[in-house]
Amino acid sequence: MNSEKEKQFDYMKKAGEIVKERASKKGRALTYFIQTFGCQMNAKDSEKFAGILEEIGYVATDGEDADFVLYNTCTVRENANLKVYGRLGVLKTKKKKNPEMLIAVCGCMMQEEEVREKIRQSYPYVDIVFGTHNIYKLAELVYDRLSSQKRVIDVYDEATMIVEDLPQHRKYSFKAGVNIMFGCNNFCSYCKVPYVRGRERSRKAEDILNEIKDLAADGVKEIMLLGQNVNSYGKTLEEPISFAALLKEAEKIEGIERIRFMTSHPKDLSDELIEVLKNSKKVCNHLHLPLQSGSSKILKDMNRHYTKEDYLALVEKIKTANPDIALTTDIIVGFPGETEEDFEETIDVVRKVKFDSAFTFIYSKRTGTPAAKMENQIPEDVVKSRFDRLLSEVQNISSEVVKRYEGKTLPVLIEQVNEQDSSLVSGRLSNNTVVHFEGDKSLIGQIIDVKLNECKGFYYLGSVAE
Ligand code: SAH
Ligand code: SF4
Repeated sequence: MNSEKEKQFDYMKKAGEIVKERASKKGRALTYFIQTFGCQMNAKDSEKFAGILEEIGYVATDGEDADFVLYNTCTVRENANLKVYGRLGVLKTKKKKNPEMLIAVCGCMMQEEEVREKIRQSYPYVDIVFGTHNIYKLAELVYDRLSSQKRVIDVYDEATMIVEDLPQHRKYSFKAGVNIMFGCNNFCSYCKVPYVRGRERSRKAEDILNEIKDLAADGVKEIMLLGQNVNSYGKTLEEPISFAALLKEAEKIEGIERIRFMTSHPKDLSDELIEVLKNSKKVCNHLHLPLQSGSSKILKDMNRHYTKEDYLALVEKIKTANPDIALTTDIIVGFPGETEEDFEETIDVVRKVKFDSAFTFIYSKRTGTPAAKMENQIPEDVVKSRFDRLLSEVQNISSEVVKRYEGKTLPVLIEQVNEQDSSLVSGRLSNNTVVHFEGDKSLIGQIIDVKLNECKGFYYLGSVAE
């Protein structure tokens, strides 16, 4: 029995009674709105928050004119922080109009002392602040706030437990993220994640597989296994198991047709994983393999534990085993000390690997990380010009590479009605490329064969195969 789980369900009930009373006074249901910043893990956490809030009795709404607004924050780059402060400013006026409105902020930013201090002092109308290590406590925090009228600030410095089986409200009926591990031990010198997400902890394989079985029973066809470095999954468990072995087990689950995962650190990518990618019918034909930089010197300063040559050799090995695989990556431009030559090395790797797509980031100095103290921070104009050069290189290559399936027919999992043109639906190939074609919402969640008529840069226009 998981007593923390029971305790939280109890709080959902108690908070639910107060919410019900308020709703009956207002003569309408109380609404909630969650804004997620940052990565897939945050998106996944937000599905848990939605599940808990719905269990309490809040009903989803589309914008910030809600009775409960939750910002799930990210602190990987400074920009992400600034956005949150901006949005909080706007909420102040909304709360004036609806004084019973509750405002909560959580996630990675809240793990930072100076952020909490700023919210404490400059944003007194924020009702609930919590961090990344106590997300399972949302119901308790909501109850405390509703019952006491005092603001609640509750952030743990370290992870305590993983509470299984709390409610979740999935955004999509046919695909779902599944956490396989939390935290990170890698301490890349630019990165805040290990500080705000804590040490690496793997979930037990049994718990993960049971969750996937439940998802399959619920009609989910595609799962995305989530972790900061999935390649080191399972190493510290009482019964150690490799990530590749976990994939093989997940693949046996009936009903699941596609398996994706994120993120794969090059330093820990095993031959066993390359074999699984090659042989598996369900593991998708896509690997996200963050490069960060193509310069061995910069990679060393970044504490990435591989060189340019290691990365290229790894890509060669992956492509030899899986000639069709789509490779995508993350690249940081303007890390301290990056010279023109270092930057050219990055461009060189981009040209050699031919990524299907790349997320390119301008280096952001994060307080508390070793890189923030490094000399030789690069001037903004130099970084901006390198960033633009990299982006155009990445886009040129990607539009060539993505085109390789033009004229072919391949299975597409349909995700949604096209946002711009409602006569079209949009979905993804196994390799993650987006495809738009004529269809209606009845197709959502199905996998069907689509002829890829025309490549438009990073996506295809297609038609249902005859
Ligand atoms: N665990 C994943 C990455 C998580 S953060 C991995 O190792 O690949 C997602 C991406 O944000 C990183 O890959 C990196 O490219 C970028 N990033 C992290 N810290 C950054 C910083 N300080 N400035 C700019 N980009 C950063
Ligand atoms: Fe950050 Fe590196 Fe951990 Fe990824 S592996 S989360 S970049 S420290």
